[in-house]
Amino acid sequence: MTIQDGEPSAGTAALPTDSPDSATPPSATRGGERQGVAERLALGLFIVLPFAALLAAVPVAWGWGLGWTDAAITVAMYFLTCHGITVGYHRYFTHGAFKANRPMRLALAVAGSLAVEGPLVRWVADHRKHHRFSDKDGDPHSPWRYGESLPALLKGLWWAHMGWMFDEEQTPQLAYAPDLVRDPAIRRISRLFWLWTMISLLLPPLVGGLVTLSWSGALSAFFWGSLVRVALLHHVTWSINSICHAVGRRPFRSRDRSGNVWWLAVLSCGESWHNLHHADPTAARHGVLRGQIDSSARLIRWFELAGWVRDVRWPDAQRIAARRAA
Ligand SMILES: [Zn+2]
Ligand SMILES: [Zn+2]
Repeated sequence: MTIQDGEPSAGTAALPTDSPDSATPPSATRGGERQGVAERLALGLFIVLPFAALLAAVPVAWGWGLGWTDAAITVAMYFLTCHGITVGYHRYFTHGAFKANRPMRLALAVAGSLAVEGPLVRWVADHRKHHRFSDKDGDPHSPWRYGESLPALLKGLWWAHMGWMFDEEQTPQLAYAPDLVRDPAIRRISRLFWLWTMISLLLPPLVGGLVTLSWSGALSAFFWGSLVRVALLHHVTWSINSICHAVGRRPFRSRDRSGNVWWLAVLSCGESWHNLHHADPTAARHGVLRGQIDSSARLIRWFELAGWVRDVRWPDAQRIAARRAA
């Protein structure tokens, strides 16, 4: 696992791998233009194993350590916090895809914080830096950091998925998120991250215990509604950084390796249409093509109809067509 190409970023991000051009010079890294069987297999295992392990646990526990109450709490908390991240942290605070009234702004900040993905201002600063350097030097979490050979990609996937969070270097918040740092209420919510984490973890057992009037009900709700739910959402969010920058279709022009990954659309609340997102970062809708499920966009539309958000940047047909890959 020590293979490291001399030029980890130069020349690797500009060319889409699936359209080799005979006029272009040979690849600057060890990996070929096409993905090999071994690479695909390794990538598949990396993606599938954690989800398979989780799914296998469901029938084993059903009836004694998992019931309908736990399932309802888990699903409700999952999608509340998932949309807190996608609609709140990501599309609103990071990219300004719409404007929100004051109560909505604060509610989105809290809902996102309940996902336990770090304080709001840090998340936004990291993500803005990701867009600024996407898949090049300076990107906090590119899977192509170490090159394109199989070992390099595996190492890079690990880095993009989780490793980057342990990096000593932190994104300077005042440089990347001055708008948020200067808002006292947002600063306070961001600093109270520990409190939102406590609430997020204690709410499921409280509800589960009250509904079933039992300690075992509180315990199983804690396991599924708190621990499993947070872990699953973490992996789905991180998958946008790792998987959606390694595989997927690229119908739109972007400066990086971002791809659309259809099978993550529901779990990621529409964020896995990541190629469109990098092609048009401020758009409120990421799933712009026919049949592309994007629950976050649906929610933003409902908020708009209720009058809680305004100036939504909906992508129109002309804007979408202009970003199509040739
Ligand atoms: Zn990205
Ligand atoms: Zn983004």
